Amino acid sequence: MRAGVGYDSHRLGEGESLILGGVRVEHDRGTVAHSDGDVLTHAVIDALLGAAGLGDIGGHFPDTDPEFAGADSLDLLREAVRRSAGAGWVPEYADTTLVCQAPRLAAHREAMAANLSGALGAPVNVKFTTGEHIGFVGREEGVAAHAVVTARTR
Ligand code: MG
Repeated sequence: MRAGVGYDSHRLGEGESLILGGVRVEHDRGTVAHSDGDVLTHAVIDALLGAAGLGDIGGHFPDTDPEFAGADSLDLLREAVRRSAGAGWVPEYADTTLVCQAPRLAAHREAMAANLSGALGAPVNVKFTTGEHIGFVGREEGVAAHAVVTARTR
């Protein structure tokens, strides 16, 4: 068994959509990104790639590649699962923390967990915390996410 950790953050900007764990959340701002800016899913991808010993998300899905412009991050997670399986590692469980000051996200917890679990092929726990009004998250300049994924050999 192995574990991998993942972290991601994205800036928040006006006129952008806010997609977190594959859920489009109503808000006056969204994440500025090359892909759909789904920080939570990106953290899970990096954690999985870490467990599989396959480097990081930027190496697999470069943000300079037009193919990934506006990409659905759940599709990227499914592809990361395929590549990890190719390297002999199957995800077993994921725990995540989404750090976001606003909006409140508790109502979306089950939908995010279901989306991530469906793409990962393993149970996913989703936790939320705020930035306590300090730092870039607390000032609502951005959102961040942490994830741990455990994987077993095939
Ligand atoms: Mg990202």
